[in-house]
Amino acid sequence: MKPSIKQLTCRATTHLVSDARDRTLAPEEAAQLSDHLEGCGACRIASRQFEQLFAHLDTLLARKPEL
Ligand SMILES: [Zn+2]
Repeated sequence: MKPSIKQLTCRATTHLVSDARDRTLAPEEAAQLSDHLEGCGACRIASRQFEQLFAHLDTLLARKPEL
């Protein structure tokens, strides 16, 4: 007996993962996200790769270019 939790599509999940970088997800969104990741191996892998990519980006961006 779950309340009407909207099932995320894989596409929406990807958006949420990248959104989470720029803003704090609403508790509902975060719950939907982890719910989907729990049941979808493809999105789990994708979100891991996102994390690595973003971490890499942070490293690159932290290195200020010398002008
Ligand atoms: Zn998925």
